[in-house]
Amino acid sequence: MKEELLNDPVFGMAAGQFDRVADFLKLDERVRERCKWPKRIITVSLPVTMDDGRTEVFFGHRVQHHLSRGPVKGGLRFHPKVNVGEVAALAMWMNWKCALMGLPYGGGKGGITCDPRKLSMGEQERLTRRFAQEISPFIGPEIDVMAPDVGTTAQHMAWILDTYSTREGRFVPEVITGKPVELQGSEGRTQATGHGVAFLASRALNKLGLDVKGATAVIQGFGNVGSYAAETMESYGMKVTGISDITGAIWNGDGIDVFKLKQHVAETGGVAGFAGADKMDPDELLIQECDVLAPAALERVITKDNAAQLKCKILAEAANGPTTQEADAIIEERGDIFLLPDILCNAGGVTVSYFEWVQNLQRFSWTKTEVLTKLETKLNEAFENLLLFCDEHKCAHRLGALATGVDTVAKVKKTRGLFP
Ligand code: NAD
Repeated sequence: MKEELLNDPVFGMAAGQFDRVADFLKLDERVRERCKWPKRIITVSLPVTMDDGRTEVFFGHRVQHHLSRGPVKGGLRFHPKVNVGEVAALAMWMNWKCALMGLPYGGGKGGITCDPRKLSMGEQERLTRRFAQEISPFIGPEIDVMAPDVGTTAQHMAWILDTYSTREGRFVPEVITGKPVELQGSEGRTQATGHGVAFLASRALNKLGLDVKGATAVIQGFGNVGSYAAETMESYGMKVTGISDITGAIWNGDGIDVFKLKQHVAETGGVAGFAGADKMDPDELLIQECDVLAPAALERVITKDNAAQLKCKILAEAANGPTTQEADAIIEERGDIFLLPDILCNAGGVTVSYFEWVQNLQRFSWTKTEVLTKLETKLNEAFENLLLFCDEHKCAHRLGALATGVDTVAKVKKTRGLFP
Protein backbone atom coordinates (compact mmCIF):
# COMPACT_ATOMS: atom_id res chain seq x y z
CA MET A 1 0.00 0.00 0.00
CA LYS A 2 2.83 2.39 0.87
CA GLU A 3 4.40 1.92 -2.56
CA GLU A 4 1.06 2.33 -4.30
CA LEU A 5 0.46 5.62 -2.50
CA LEU A 6 3.98 6.93 -3.05
CA ASN A 7 3.71 6.21 -6.79
CA ASP A 8 0.92 8.76 -7.03
CA PRO A 9 2.42 12.19 -7.84
CA VAL A 10 0.08 14.11 -5.52
CA PHE A 11 0.59 11.78 -2.55
CA GLY A 12 4.33 11.72 -3.37
CA MET A 13 4.31 15.51 -3.09
CA ALA A 14 2.44 15.50 0.25
CA ALA A 15 4.72 12.75 1.61
CA GLY A 16 7.83 14.60 0.38
CA GLN A 17 6.69 17.76 2.17
CA PHE A 18 6.00 15.72 5.30
CA ASP A 19 9.48 14.12 5.22
CA ARG A 20 11.09 17.54 4.96
CA VAL A 21 9.09 18.81 7.91
CA ALA A 22 9.75 15.67 9.96
CA ASP A 23 13.50 16.16 9.38
CA PHE A 24 13.18 19.82 10.37
CA LEU A 25 11.33 18.85 13.58
CA LYS A 26 13.71 15.91 14.18
CA LEU A 27 10.64 13.73 14.74
CA ASP A 28 11.19 10.43 16.49
CA GLU A 29 11.11 7.67 13.83
CA ARG A 30 8.14 5.85 15.44
CA VAL A 31 5.94 8.94 15.74
CA ARG A 32 7.01 9.94 12.25
CA GLU A 33 5.67 6.72 10.73
CA ARG A 34 2.39 7.03 12.63
CA CYS A 35 1.89 10.61 11.46
CA LYS A 36 2.67 9.88 7.81
CA TRP A 37 0.30 7.09 6.83
CA PRO A 38 -3.51 7.21 6.67
CA LYS A 39 -5.50 5.36 9.32
CA ARG A 40 -8.34 4.24 7.03
CA ILE A 41 -8.69 4.04 3.25
CA ILE A 42 -12.19 3.10 2.16
CA THR A 43 -13.20 2.48 -1.46
CA VAL A 44 -16.77 1.71 -2.44
CA SER A 45 -18.35 0.85 -5.77
CA LEU A 46 -21.41 2.85 -6.65
CA PRO A 47 -23.93 1.42 -9.11
CA VAL A 48 -26.18 4.18 -10.42
CA THR A 49 -29.19 4.09 -12.71
CA MET A 50 -28.48 6.61 -15.47
CA ASP A 51 -31.15 8.71 -17.16
CA ASP A 52 -31.08 6.44 -20.24
CA GLY A 53 -31.82 3.34 -18.11
CA ARG A 54 -28.25 1.95 -18.09
CA THR A 55 -26.52 0.99 -14.83
CA GLU A 56 -23.11 2.60 -14.51
CA VAL A 57 -20.65 1.72 -11.74
CA PHE A 58 -18.58 4.57 -10.28
CA PHE A 59 -15.90 4.34 -7.58
CA GLY A 60 -15.81 6.52 -4.48
CA HIS A 61 -13.03 6.87 -1.92
CA ARG A 62 -12.76 8.24 1.59
CA VAL A 63 -9.44 8.53 3.38
CA GLN A 64 -9.31 9.23 7.12
CA HIS A 65 -5.75 10.20 7.88
CA HIS A 66 -5.93 10.08 11.66
CA LEU A 67 -8.48 10.26 14.45
CA SER A 68 -6.09 11.12 17.28
CA ARG A 69 -7.40 14.68 17.89
CA GLY A 70 -11.09 14.23 17.08
CA PRO A 71 -13.28 13.26 14.13
CA VAL A 72 -11.80 13.67 10.67
CA LYS A 73 -12.90 16.63 8.61
CA GLY A 74 -12.58 17.20 4.91
CA GLY A 75 -14.30 17.72 1.60
CA LEU A 76 -15.87 15.43 -0.97
CA ARG A 77 -14.68 15.96 -4.53
CA PHE A 78 -16.34 15.01 -7.84
CA HIS A 79 -13.75 15.04 -10.62
CA PRO A 80 -12.67 12.70 -13.46
CA LYS A 81 -9.09 12.54 -12.12
CA VAL A 82 -9.98 11.50 -8.55
CA ASN A 83 -7.92 8.52 -7.35
CA VAL A 84 -6.90 7.06 -3.99
CA GLY A 85 -3.46 8.68 -4.00
CA GLU A 86 -4.84 12.16 -4.60
CA VAL A 87 -7.53 11.71 -1.95
CA ALA A 88 -4.94 10.43 0.56
CA ALA A 89 -2.71 13.44 -0.11
CA LEU A 90 -5.60 15.86 0.37
CA ALA A 91 -6.51 14.06 3.63
CA MET A 92 -2.94 14.44 4.87
CA TRP A 93 -2.92 18.19 4.12
CA MET A 94 -6.25 18.51 5.97
CA ASN A 95 -4.54 17.13 9.10
CA TRP A 96 -1.90 19.79 9.18
CA LYS A 97 -4.47 22.46 8.32
CA CYS A 98 -6.83 21.54 11.17
CA ALA A 99 -3.92 21.34 13.60
CA LEU A 100 -2.45 24.66 12.39
CA MET A 101 -5.84 26.33 12.91
CA GLY A 102 -6.28 24.73 16.35
CA LEU A 103 -9.44 22.85 15.26
CA PRO A 104 -10.20 19.58 17.12
CA TYR A 105 -10.11 17.41 14.01
CA GLY A 106 -7.97 14.99 12.07
CA GLY A 107 -7.83 15.26 8.29
CA GLY A 108 -10.06 13.43 5.85
CA LYS A 109 -10.95 13.66 2.20
CA GLY A 110 -13.27 11.92 -0.21
CA GLY A 111 -13.78 11.76 -3.91
CA ILE A 112 -15.83 10.10 -6.60
CA THR A 113 -14.24 9.56 -9.99
CA CYS A 114 -16.80 11.16 -12.28
CA ASP A 115 -17.32 14.21 -14.45
CA PRO A 116 -20.22 16.10 -12.85
CA ARG A 117 -20.49 18.32 -15.94
CA LYS A 118 -21.61 15.25 -17.88
CA LEU A 119 -24.14 14.08 -15.25
CA SER A 120 -27.71 15.38 -14.93
CA MET A 121 -28.82 16.61 -11.50
CA GLY A 122 -30.87 13.42 -11.11
CA GLU A 123 -27.80 11.27 -11.83
CA GLN A 124 -25.72 13.36 -9.41
CA GLU A 125 -28.35 12.94 -6.70
CA ARG A 126 -28.49 9.15 -7.14
CA LEU A 127 -24.68 8.95 -7.16
CA THR A 128 -24.33 11.13 -4.04
CA ARG A 129 -27.02 9.23 -2.14
CA ARG A 130 -25.49 5.87 -3.08
CA PHE A 131 -22.10 7.06 -1.84
CA ALA A 132 -23.66 8.36 1.41
CA GLN A 133 -25.39 5.02 1.91
CA GLU A 134 -22.24 2.94 1.26
CA ILE A 135 -20.03 5.16 3.42
CA SER A 136 -22.55 5.57 6.28
CA PRO A 137 -20.97 2.88 8.53
CA PHE A 138 -17.69 4.80 8.45
CA ILE A 139 -18.87 8.39 9.01
CA GLY A 140 -20.75 10.26 11.74
CA PRO A 141 -20.62 13.48 13.77
CA GLU A 142 -17.89 12.08 16.06
CA ILE A 143 -16.08 10.05 13.37
CA ASP A 144 -15.97 11.80 10.00
CA VAL A 145 -17.73 14.99 8.92
CA MET A 146 -17.68 15.72 5.18
CA ALA A 147 -17.99 19.09 3.37
CA PRO A 148 -18.07 20.37 -0.23
CA ASP A 149 -14.98 20.46 -2.43
CA VAL A 150 -14.32 20.63 -6.18
CA GLY A 151 -17.45 19.67 -8.11
CA THR A 152 -19.78 19.46 -5.09
CA THR A 153 -22.05 22.08 -3.54
CA ALA A 154 -24.42 22.65 -0.62
CA GLN A 155 -27.02 20.62 -2.55
CA HIS A 156 -24.80 17.52 -2.51
CA MET A 157 -24.34 18.00 1.24
CA ALA A 158 -28.14 18.21 1.65
CA TRP A 159 -28.53 14.83 -0.12
CA ILE A 160 -25.89 13.27 2.17
CA LEU A 161 -27.60 14.75 5.23
CA ASP A 162 -30.96 13.38 4.09
CA THR A 163 -29.60 9.90 3.31
CA TYR A 164 -27.70 9.63 6.60
CA SER A 165 -30.61 11.03 8.66
CA THR A 166 -33.09 8.65 7.00
CA ARG A 167 -30.81 5.73 7.87
CA GLU A 168 -30.51 6.92 11.48
CA GLY A 169 -34.22 7.65 11.79
CA ARG A 170 -33.59 11.20 13.07
CA PHE A 171 -32.38 14.56 11.78
CA VAL A 172 -28.55 14.69 12.10
CA PRO A 173 -27.35 18.07 10.78
CA GLU A 174 -23.95 17.71 12.52
CA VAL A 175 -22.96 14.83 10.20
CA ILE A 176 -22.11 17.23 7.37
CA THR A 177 -21.04 20.86 6.91
CA GLY A 178 -21.37 23.26 4.01
CA LYS A 179 -25.08 22.39 3.81
CA PRO A 180 -27.84 24.90 2.97
CA VAL A 181 -28.71 27.37 5.75
CA GLU A 182 -32.32 26.11 5.88
CA LEU A 183 -30.95 22.69 6.89
CA GLN A 184 -28.94 24.30 9.70
CA GLY A 185 -25.95 25.14 7.55
CA SER A 186 -23.93 28.07 8.83
CA GLU A 187 -24.35 31.62 7.64
CA GLY A 188 -21.12 32.60 5.89
CA ARG A 189 -19.99 29.03 5.06
CA THR A 190 -20.44 29.33 1.29
CA GLN A 191 -18.15 32.34 1.03
CA ALA A 192 -15.84 31.37 3.92
CA THR A 193 -12.91 29.93 1.95
CA GLY A 194 -12.80 32.70 -0.66
CA HIS A 195 -13.41 35.36 1.99
CA GLY A 196 -10.49 33.95 4.01
CA VAL A 197 -8.21 33.98 0.94
CA ALA A 198 -9.00 37.65 0.29
CA PHE A 199 -8.67 38.55 3.98
CA LEU A 200 -5.24 36.90 4.26
CA ALA A 201 -4.12 38.45 0.96
CA SER A 202 -5.03 41.86 2.44
CA ARG A 203 -3.03 41.05 5.61
CA ALA A 204 -0.04 40.06 3.46
CA LEU A 205 -0.35 43.32 1.49
CA ASN A 206 -0.35 45.18 4.86
CA LYS A 207 2.84 43.34 5.89
CA LEU A 208 4.53 44.29 2.62
CA GLY A 209 3.53 47.93 3.17
CA LEU A 210 1.30 47.94 0.07
CA ASP A 211 -2.15 49.53 -0.17
CA VAL A 212 -5.01 47.06 -0.33
CA LYS A 213 -7.15 49.52 -2.25
CA GLY A 214 -6.04 49.45 -5.86
CA ALA A 215 -3.91 46.29 -5.45
CA THR A 216 -4.26 43.90 -8.40
CA ALA A 217 -5.13 40.21 -8.34
CA VAL A 218 -5.17 37.30 -10.79
CA ILE A 219 -7.31 34.28 -9.91
CA GLN A 220 -7.21 30.83 -11.49
CA GLY A 221 -10.58 29.12 -10.98
CA PHE A 222 -13.95 30.81 -10.62
CA GLY A 223 -15.86 28.20 -8.64
CA ASN A 224 -16.77 28.49 -4.99
CA VAL A 225 -13.35 29.63 -3.75
CA GLY A 226 -12.23 31.73 -6.71
CA SER A 227 -15.52 33.61 -7.16
CA TYR A 228 -15.88 34.55 -3.48
CA ALA A 229 -12.19 35.48 -3.24
CA ALA A 230 -12.79 37.79 -6.23
CA GLU A 231 -15.95 39.22 -4.70
CA THR A 232 -14.30 40.00 -1.33
CA MET A 233 -11.20 41.43 -3.02
CA GLU A 234 -13.43 43.70 -5.10
CA SER A 235 -15.25 44.80 -1.93
CA TYR A 236 -11.83 45.82 -0.49
CA GLY A 237 -11.27 48.06 -3.54
CA MET A 238 -8.80 45.65 -5.16
CA LYS A 239 -8.77 45.18 -8.94
CA VAL A 240 -9.19 41.61 -10.17
CA THR A 241 -7.50 41.89 -13.55
CA GLY A 242 -7.38 38.25 -14.67
CA ILE A 243 -9.57 35.20 -14.08
CA SER A 244 -9.63 31.74 -15.61
CA ASP A 245 -11.70 28.60 -15.32
CA ILE A 246 -12.05 25.35 -17.24
CA THR A 247 -13.56 27.25 -20.21
CA GLY A 248 -10.65 29.69 -20.63
CA ALA A 249 -9.00 32.84 -19.28
CA ILE A 250 -10.00 36.53 -19.41
CA TRP A 251 -8.15 39.79 -18.74
CA ASN A 252 -9.11 43.42 -18.07
CA GLY A 253 -6.33 45.70 -16.80
CA ASP A 254 -8.92 48.09 -15.31
CA GLY A 255 -10.46 45.33 -13.22
CA ILE A 256 -13.12 42.75 -14.09
CA ASP A 257 -16.66 43.46 -12.85
CA VAL A 258 -17.05 40.41 -10.60
CA PHE A 259 -20.82 40.72 -10.16
CA LYS A 260 -21.38 40.85 -13.94
CA LEU A 261 -18.97 37.96 -14.46
CA LYS A 262 -20.91 35.85 -11.94
CA GLN A 263 -24.09 36.53 -13.93
CA HIS A 264 -22.31 35.56 -17.16
CA VAL A 265 -21.03 32.31 -15.60
CA ALA A 266 -24.52 31.48 -14.26
CA GLU A 267 -25.93 31.95 -17.78
CA THR A 268 -23.19 30.32 -19.88
CA GLY A 269 -21.37 27.92 -17.52
CA GLY A 270 -17.94 29.58 -17.68
CA VAL A 271 -15.89 32.78 -17.90
CA ALA A 272 -15.14 32.39 -21.63
CA GLY A 273 -16.89 34.91 -23.82
CA PHE A 274 -17.40 37.50 -21.04
CA ALA A 275 -17.96 40.84 -22.76
CA GLY A 276 -16.20 42.90 -20.07
CA ALA A 277 -12.71 41.46 -20.68
CA ASP A 278 -10.33 40.16 -23.35
CA LYS A 279 -9.49 36.52 -23.95
CA MET A 280 -6.09 35.33 -22.73
CA ASP A 281 -4.08 32.12 -22.87
CA PRO A 282 -4.72 30.35 -19.52
CA ASP A 283 -1.00 29.52 -19.03
CA GLU A 284 -0.04 33.13 -19.78
CA LEU A 285 -2.51 34.35 -17.17
CA LEU A 286 -0.45 32.85 -14.34
CA ILE A 287 2.65 34.81 -15.28
CA GLN A 288 1.04 38.25 -15.62
CA GLU A 289 2.21 41.08 -13.38
CA CYS A 290 -0.02 41.43 -10.31
CA ASP A 291 0.15 41.98 -6.56
CA VAL A 292 -1.71 38.79 -5.67
CA LEU A 293 -1.82 35.55 -7.66
CA ALA A 294 -4.43 33.14 -6.31
CA PRO A 295 -4.52 29.66 -7.88
CA ALA A 296 -8.03 28.54 -6.83
CA ALA A 297 -8.67 25.51 -9.05
CA LEU A 298 -6.67 22.30 -8.87
CA GLU A 299 -3.32 21.11 -7.56
CA ARG A 300 0.15 21.25 -9.21
CA VAL A 301 -0.36 24.27 -11.47
CA ILE A 302 2.66 26.29 -10.29
CA THR A 303 5.48 24.13 -11.59
CA LYS A 304 9.20 24.28 -12.36
CA ASP A 305 8.19 25.54 -15.81
CA ASN A 306 6.44 28.71 -14.66
CA ALA A 307 7.73 29.39 -11.10
CA ALA A 308 10.69 31.46 -12.26
CA GLN A 309 8.39 33.56 -14.46
CA LEU A 310 5.79 34.49 -11.82
CA LYS A 311 5.41 38.25 -11.51
CA CYS A 312 3.25 38.40 -8.38
CA LYS A 313 4.27 39.81 -5.00
CA ILE A 314 2.00 37.46 -3.06
CA LEU A 315 1.16 33.87 -3.96
CA ALA A 316 -2.12 33.11 -2.20
CA GLU A 317 -2.61 29.35 -2.44
CA ALA A 318 -6.39 29.18 -2.47
CA ALA A 319 -6.43 25.65 -3.92
CA ASN A 320 -4.93 22.67 -2.15
CA GLY A 321 -1.42 21.76 -3.30
CA PRO A 322 -1.21 24.19 -6.25
CA THR A 323 2.61 24.43 -6.09
CA THR A 324 4.89 21.48 -6.85
CA GLN A 325 7.93 20.84 -4.69
CA GLU A 326 10.29 21.89 -7.51
CA ALA A 327 8.37 25.14 -7.93
CA ASP A 328 8.43 25.66 -4.18
CA ALA A 329 12.22 25.41 -4.17
CA ILE A 330 12.43 27.99 -6.98
CA ILE A 331 10.10 30.38 -5.13
CA GLU A 332 12.06 29.95 -1.89
CA GLU A 333 15.32 30.62 -3.75
CA ARG A 334 13.86 33.74 -5.43
CA GLY A 335 12.84 35.14 -2.04
CA ASP A 336 10.74 37.93 -3.60
CA ILE A 337 7.30 36.30 -3.28
CA PHE A 338 5.29 36.36 -0.03
CA LEU A 339 3.77 32.88 0.15
CA LEU A 340 0.43 32.26 1.82
CA PRO A 341 0.65 28.44 2.03
CA ASP A 342 -2.50 26.49 1.18
CA ILE A 343 -3.04 25.03 4.64
CA LEU A 344 -3.40 28.55 5.99
CA CYS A 345 -4.66 30.41 2.91
CA ASN A 346 -7.75 28.25 2.30
CA ALA A 347 -8.39 27.35 5.95
CA GLY A 348 -11.44 29.64 6.04
CA GLY A 349 -13.59 26.80 4.72
CA VAL A 350 -12.75 24.23 7.37
CA THR A 351 -12.80 26.88 10.10
CA VAL A 352 -16.38 27.88 9.30
CA SER A 353 -17.22 24.19 8.85
CA TYR A 354 -16.03 23.78 12.43
CA PHE A 355 -18.23 26.73 13.46
CA GLU A 356 -21.14 25.05 11.65
CA TRP A 357 -20.56 21.74 13.49
CA VAL A 358 -20.33 23.57 16.84
CA GLN A 359 -23.57 25.48 16.13
CA ASN A 360 -25.32 22.21 15.13
CA LEU A 361 -24.15 20.37 18.25
CA GLN A 362 -25.48 23.27 20.36
CA ARG A 363 -28.68 23.63 18.27
CA PHE A 364 -27.87 27.35 18.13
CA SER A 365 -27.01 29.62 15.21
CA TRP A 366 -24.78 32.65 14.77
CA THR A 367 -25.27 35.58 12.39
CA LYS A 368 -23.15 35.97 9.26
CA THR A 369 -21.33 38.93 10.84
CA GLU A 370 -20.54 36.85 13.94
CA VAL A 371 -19.26 34.00 11.78
CA LEU A 372 -17.06 36.11 9.51
CA THR A 373 -15.70 38.15 12.45
CA LYS A 374 -14.78 34.97 14.36
CA LEU A 375 -13.23 33.60 11.14
CA GLU A 376 -11.07 36.68 10.61
CA THR A 377 -9.92 36.57 14.25
CA LYS A 378 -8.86 32.92 13.90
CA LEU A 379 -7.16 33.42 10.54
CA ASN A 380 -5.32 36.49 11.75
CA GLU A 381 -4.11 34.67 14.85
CA ALA A 382 -2.77 31.76 12.75
CA PHE A 383 -1.19 34.22 10.26
CA GLU A 384 0.61 36.22 12.98
CA ASN A 385 1.73 33.03 14.78
CA LEU A 386 3.12 31.70 11.50
CA LEU A 387 5.12 34.86 10.83
CA LEU A 388 6.52 34.74 14.39
CA PHE A 389 7.43 31.05 14.01
CA CYS A 390 9.16 31.65 10.66
CA ASP A 391 11.01 34.63 12.05
CA GLU A 392 12.19 32.69 15.06
CA HIS A 393 13.22 29.57 13.12
CA LYS A 394 14.41 31.41 10.00
CA CYS A 395 12.28 29.20 7.78
CA ALA A 396 9.98 29.65 4.79
CA HIS A 397 6.23 30.09 5.29
CA ARG A 398 5.28 26.66 3.93
CA LEU A 399 7.75 24.86 6.15
CA GLY A 400 6.61 26.93 9.14
CA ALA A 401 2.92 26.21 8.53
CA LEU A 402 3.44 22.49 7.99
CA ALA A 403 5.82 22.24 10.95
CA THR A 404 3.25 23.84 13.27
CA GLY A 405 0.57 21.40 12.09
CA VAL A 406 2.76 18.28 12.12
CA ASP A 407 4.23 19.12 15.52
CA THR A 408 0.75 19.45 17.05
CA VAL A 409 -0.31 16.04 15.71
CA ALA A 410 3.01 14.38 16.65
CA LYS A 411 2.76 15.63 20.25
CA VAL A 412 -0.79 14.27 20.57
CA LYS A 413 0.24 10.85 19.22
CA LYS A 414 3.26 10.71 21.52
CA THR A 415 1.21 11.69 24.59
CA ARG A 416 -1.59 9.22 23.82
CA GLY A 417 0.99 6.47 23.33
CA LEU A 418 0.75 3.41 21.10
CA PHE A 419 -2.10 0.94 21.61
CA PRO A 420 -1.79 -1.94 22.45
P1 NAD B 1 -15.26 24.37 -7.65
O1 NAD B 1 -15.58 23.09 -8.30
O2 NAD B 1 -16.36 25.19 -7.09
O3 NAD B 1 -14.43 25.29 -8.66
C1 NAD B 1 -13.31 24.86 -9.34
C2 NAD B 1 -13.00 25.90 -10.40
O4 NAD B 1 -11.76 25.55 -11.05
C3 NAD B 1 -14.05 26.00 -11.50
O5 NAD B 1 -14.25 27.37 -11.84
C4 NAD B 1 -13.39 25.26 -12.66
O6 NAD B 1 -13.87 25.69 -13.93
C5 NAD B 1 -11.96 25.64 -12.44
N1 NAD B 1 -11.00 24.80 -13.14
C6 NAD B 1 -11.00 23.45 -13.26
N2 NAD B 1 -9.96 23.07 -14.02
C7 NAD B 1 -9.31 24.20 -14.38
C8 NAD B 1 -8.18 24.47 -15.17
N3 NAD B 1 -7.50 23.49 -15.74
N4 NAD B 1 -7.79 25.77 -15.33
C9 NAD B 1 -8.48 26.77 -14.74
N5 NAD B 1 -9.55 26.57 -13.98
C10 NAD B 1 -9.97 25.30 -13.81
O7 NAD B 1 -14.15 24.05 -6.51
P2 NAD B 1 -13.79 24.91 -5.24
O8 NAD B 1 -14.61 24.43 -4.11
O9 NAD B 1 -13.77 26.34 -5.61
O10 NAD B 1 -12.29 24.40 -4.94
C11 NAD B 1 -11.15 24.95 -5.61
C12 NAD B 1 -9.89 24.56 -4.86
O11 NAD B 1 -9.98 25.04 -3.52
C13 NAD B 1 -9.64 23.06 -4.71
O12 NAD B 1 -8.25 22.82 -4.69
C14 NAD B 1 -10.21 22.72 -3.36
O13 NAD B 1 -9.65 21.56 -2.79
C15 NAD B 1 -9.80 23.97 -2.60
N6 NAD B 1 -10.59 24.23 -1.41
C16 NAD B 1 -11.95 24.39 -1.46
C17 NAD B 1 -12.63 24.69 -0.28
C18 NAD B 1 -14.11 24.97 -0.29
O14 NAD B 1 -14.63 25.36 0.77
N7 NAD B 1 -14.81 24.82 -1.38
C19 NAD B 1 -11.94 24.78 0.93
C20 NAD B 1 -10.56 24.62 0.95
C21 NAD B 1 -9.89 24.34 -0.24
